[in-house]
Formats: sequence, structure tokens, C-alpha cells
Amino acid sequence: MGYDAPFTVTLALPDGRLLSSPVVPVGFDRQPRARFVWVWDTTGLSGSQSFTVTLLAPPDVRDTELANNVLTLEVPLQNRTALPPPEPGVRWDLQSAPGIRLHYVTGSAAERDAATLLALAQGAYADVAARLGVTTTEALDIYALDRVVGQGGYATSDWVAISYTDRAYAPAEMTLLLRHELTHRLDSAWECDALPALFREGLAVWVAGGHYWPESLPRKASGLLQTGRYIPLEQLLADFYRQQHEIGYLEAGALVAYIVEERGWEGVQQLCGAFTAARGDESARLTAGLTAVDLPAMPQLEQEWLRWLRSLHVSAEELRILEGEWLLMDTMRLYQQLHDPSANYLTGILFDPAAAVERGITADLVRRPRDPEAISLELLLQMTQEALRTGDPEEAAATLEALRVALHDGTSAAPEAVVRMRALVEAVMARGYEPYRTICFEDGADVGQRAPGCVVYALDRSNWPTKRLLWAARGADFDSWTVVGPQLEN
Ligand SMILES: [Zn+2]
Repeated sequence: MGYDAPFTVTLALPDGRLLSSPVVPVGFDRQPRARFVWVWDTTGLSGSQSFTVTLLAPPDVRDTELANNVLTLEVPLQNRTALPPPEPGVRWDLQSAPGIRLHYVTGSAAERDAATLLALAQGAYADVAARLGVTTTEALDIYALDRVVGQGGYATSDWVAISYTDRAYAPAEMTLLLRHELTHRLDSAWECDALPALFREGLAVWVAGGHYWPESLPRKASGLLQTGRYIPLEQLLADFYRQQHEIGYLEAGALVAYIVEERGWEGVQQLCGAFTAARGDESARLTAGLTAVDLPAMPQLEQEWLRWLRSLHVSAEELRILEGEWLLMDTMRLYQQLHDPSANYLTGILFDPAAAVERGITADLVRRPRDPEAISLELLLQMTQEALRTGDPEEAAATLEALRVALHDGTSAAPEAVVRMRALVEAVMARGYEPYRTICFEDGADVGQRAPGCVVYALDRSNWPTKRLLWAARGADFDSWTVVGPQLEN
């Protein structure tokens, strides 16, 4: 911003308290912001509430540069009883198994599936601990969030937060996500925790077996080289987190795969140890680490790695899926920005779940858009994900194109696929169910039905979170649906 002191925002709360916060770069995108997190408790309040927000300039800015610096906001408080399930009345609870404490909110999908989740987490913990030769007795705290946040998970050295919700529009597979975050937690055993983000993230992706789902990192990175979207390693070393997210992680994982290929898994441990023991700036320490395992320094290592990647064969089909995945993730983040900004990892808050448990706060880790428009967009994101994973890039591309038009132009002029999905969601919700997955058929006979339509996996709002299976028959118009069922639980 070019000023000596930061700007300040003050917030006058309806109860008369005056809070202030400096405007400083916060969030992964490092944009200047003032944040007031969990400062106002609305318990017992109702009706419209009024806030005053004031932007104050530092002393070296003339007042005339700061016209219109006061904003008054009216916030209508909704009645708690209007909240959809599992709210109101949720609270944090936990279940334990050896090595794992699973925290969740009551009435959530995570509570319903706690036994499965605990077993999964124990398996992931055992995998990663074995890889790194760690025996640990310290229990891991996992917080299951009842909404998608970021790409599905985030962690500190004290805990791991994972999104666990039935309408999982972010593609991350639970096991991979847990292995990834656990690698960050345990890599200090090999002294890898001091390495640049490029290597630490690469290590986590490699140990997990893929970024969001199991995949061949070298083959994908080889495909990347044909797309013109390659990011030079120098750029990733300098500023890893602000590059295109999936490409940065893919290159990181493929680089670690190369080191393992050339010097074995023990080579990674030696590299980490030598880096950590070395003195000097990051680049000198990296050279020391690479030299210790007889690998060339950058940029020669990059050249040799690229030569290795180029020797791998990638089919045109694989390439289309790869580009579809990036577009899907960018579209997912665009959806978050427009409909659920606090979920976007670049601009959002990434709430501390341990602090939330301590303070009895649940809303930020449960509440999310639940209107037909948001639900239909999430279902389309999820359908795209399934199309890509089952190897149908054409279907995925068509759905993504429709989604992007709807997100850019609003749903009033939305493509048919979006209007149709929204009408389907409205028909299902009118019967008291909230869809979390749909599979549509051009010919209903494929699934023993007379008309074209969709199998709808839904949750019962009157008996949350019980799963139900419905059939929605498509009428002649693209927005008319007849919902039957639930036929069975699933
Ligand atoms: Zn990571």
C-alpha cells in the first residue's frame, strides 16, 4: 500500500463495543484486510442489528484522500429455529480409537459414519508412520467439518481438519487427504519440516499416492508439459502457494517421485537431513541436500527431471482428463467465491476448529449455502468430478461449460443443464429431502423406469442425516420432474 503505518478499521457493534483491527495482508492471497473473527455473540438477540464500520487512515495520509470512510450495515437476525438440520442444537462431540480422537458436531454425517472414519484414520496413520519409520503414541486430533472448506482439508501441527459431508463437491478422497496431512505432521522425524514448501508438499502428495485421488504423478506431470502451463521450479521455490494450486502440487509430487526413482526412499531422508544440517540461505542448503544424495543442484536437477518426464508416454485421453481436472477445480473455487466466500482457501478464514470446540462455536464449521441454486451447482460440480474419474472428459467438459456460464452470468440466463438441475433440486426439496448426488439416464429403462430421469441420493430433512434413494422422472419440459420414493435406504 505504500504507507508507513497500516490503515485501521473500527467496528462499532450493536451492543456499543468498539473494536479495531489493522488492515494488513491476511489469507493465502495476502490481500490487505481487517478481520473480526468471533467477536459478537447473537444469542438471545432478534430483529435487525446495526453496525458501523469506519476506515481510519494512518497519520501520513491526508484526510481528503479518505472521503466516504464510514459504512453502516443493517443485519437482520434470523430465528434459530429456521436453520436446516443438523442445526439448531448442534454441539461438538468426540469418539476415540487408539491414536485418534475424532471431533464432530452432533447430527452430522461424521457422527453417523464415525466408526468408519475412525478406522480409515487409523489406517492412514499407520501407513504414514510406517513410511517414515515413526512410532508415535501421541493421539491425533481430527476435526470433521460438516461443510466443504478449501479443497477439503487443512492442518496445523496440532490438528487436522477434514471436510466430511455427503454432498462432497470437492474431490479429495478421505484416505489421501489424511495421509497428506499426516505426512506434514510426521515429516519432522526425518527433519523434512524445514524444507521449502515445494519439497514438503511434494513429499505429502507422494506419500498420499496422489493429490486428491490415486494417480501417477510422473505421467500427469509429463502431460502437463504438453499443455504449456508448466511453472518453472524457481517460481515454485520462491512462492509455492500463490501458483495455480493443482499444477504446483502436481509438479511438487512428481519431483519427489523423481528423487525416489533416482536415489530411493532413503535418499529423501538423507536429503532432508543434509538440508537441515547445512548453513546459508535456502538455495545453498538445497544444494547441500541434493549434493548429499549425489543429485545435481538446481537448475540442472530440473533439466534432468524434465528429460525423465518427457520420456513417459501420455495419451490424448489422459491429457483431456488432466485439463478437465484443472478447469473443475478452478470452477469449484469460483463457485465458492460467489456462493460461499468463507470456504475459498485463498480468501477465506480457515477457522481453527480446536478454538471453536473450546468456545462452543459450531456455525462456521457447519453452515453453508443450502438453497436450491447452490445445491444444484454443487451437484453439477460433483457430476463433473465423477465423469472425469470414470474417464468421460467430453461429458465433464459439457457440464463444466454450462456451470461456468451460469456462474459468470447468473442463473437467469443459465444453460439448460443448470436450469434442469435446479428444477430437479426444487422438486426433491419440496418433498422434504436434500439431494447429495444424482445419476441421470437418457433412457429410464436402463434402471427399470418408464421415462428418462435421475436416481437421486438424498438426505431426509425430517430425520437428518438418514440417507434415502429417490427416482425423479423427467417430464417433456426440461424443468418438469416427478419425484417418487423414497424407495429404499442406501
Ligand atoms: Zn499440504
